[in-house]
Amino acid sequence: MTLLTGKVAVVTGSASGIGKEVARALAKAGAAVAIADLNMTGAKAVAAEIVATGGTALAVAMNVTDERSVIDGMDRVAAAFGSIDILVSNAGVQVVNSIDCYAFSDWKKIQSIYLDGAFLTTKAALTYMYERDRGGVVIYVGSVYSHVASPLKSAYVAAAHGMLGLARVLAQEGAAHNVRAHVVCPGFVRTPLLEKQIPELARELGTSDEDVVKQVMLGDTADGEFTTVDDIAQTVLFLSSFPSAALTGQSFLVSHGWHMQ
Ligand code: NAD
Repeated sequence: MTLLTGKVAVVTGSASGIGKEVARALAKAGAAVAIADLNMTGAKAVAAEIVATGGTALAVAMNVTDERSVIDGMDRVAAAFGSIDILVSNAGVQVVNSIDCYAFSDWKKIQSIYLDGAFLTTKAALTYMYERDRGGVVIYVGSVYSHVASPLKSAYVAAAHGMLGLARVLAQEGAAHNVRAHVVCPGFVRTPLLEKQIPELARELGTSDEDVVKQVMLGDTADGEFTTVDDIAQTVLFLSSFPSAALTGQSFLVSHGWHMQ
């Protein structure tokens, strides 16, 4: 028996980066894990790696902005593994630009992936978690930008703040059904999403890639270190396996001291 033996987890955006490491950690702890992503080639590779190391995993095609796709994906997971106990809403993209130049289509894309995605995946997972009040845990991957602002990231900062509200309402409504909700808020993590931003931010800010890393990304951390995918995976694992509802509706900053509260 391990911590999550018998549990079923859905991790969105787990074909890459943070989600991939979260999926690996939950599987290692004994959960059956659905690798839900737009990128099916990547999702299948992650699922195959988990299965090859003795875990249980399934790649599921899911576009978190599309209600039909989300419901079909969740139903597929429940049909394969019996139910859904843990949802990690993690899928994301980034578009950087100043507000005056930010395309409305990009704004809507960001709100759709983060807020519509969080809402749609939550609603579909609750169908299973509320069944006979069996309960579960919903973890939103937010950001330090769920708490602080950043120039050039208006849409993302607004969406990341919005996730706190959704998690807190779910903590209130879900309690009667044994459902808990949290937001995990990473600092900068070296993933494909971040690597793409370094030259984009350098161009917008008129500085070098090295300065973006040292000043913008790590300047306010306590130890000058990037947050790692493992830092986030271990936090999600802790919250997924916490034994009571003493912890619900919380936001956990995992940022090497970049933001303290
Ligand atoms: P990543 O680019 O490595 O992975 C994101 C994944 O989301 C990809 O596999 C992509 O295919 C998937 N995805 C995108 N749109 C989707 C959609 N509509 N439906 C389903 N899947 C979709 O990025 P990452 O850095 O691992 O980011 C994961 C999450 O962590 C994001 O929500 C991001 O905002 C957040 N985050 C990242 C950092 C960082 O520094 N990397 C910091 C704070 C928060």
